[in-house]
Amino acid sequence: MSVAPLPPYNAQGYNNYQIAPPGLIIPQPVFIGTPAFIPSEYPVQCVCSRCQQPITTRIEKQNGLLTWLLVGGFLLFGCWFGCCLIPFCVDAGKDTAHYCPSCSQLLGVKKQI
Ligand SMILES: [Zn+2]
Repeated sequence: MSVAPLPPYNAQGYNNYQIAPPGLIIPQPVFIGTPAFIPSEYPVQCVCSRCQQPITTRIEKQNGLLTWLLVGGFLLFGCWFGCCLIPFCVDAGKDTAHYCPSCSQLLGVKKQI
């Protein structure tokens, strides 16, 4: 059993790769700006717009519109005596603010509503 020899590297038809002649400058894609920051409820990997460091955001939960709507809803349905304050203790209904761990820049807020 014999194995056919592989065609020599860069032979015609083997691939389309061509070596650039010396002196030829091949334009490289230039990365401008920061990747689009898409806030989520979890820490996001991105490049800080202030200190230009690749970071994983530090998140903090904030009371948002949904939190207050839930409080109002609890009040409407008769949850008096402090029960209406439950939404302030539940992170699920809160907005998520993303901060840079290096420079503490606010990078974005994921709002529930
Ligand atoms: Zn930063």
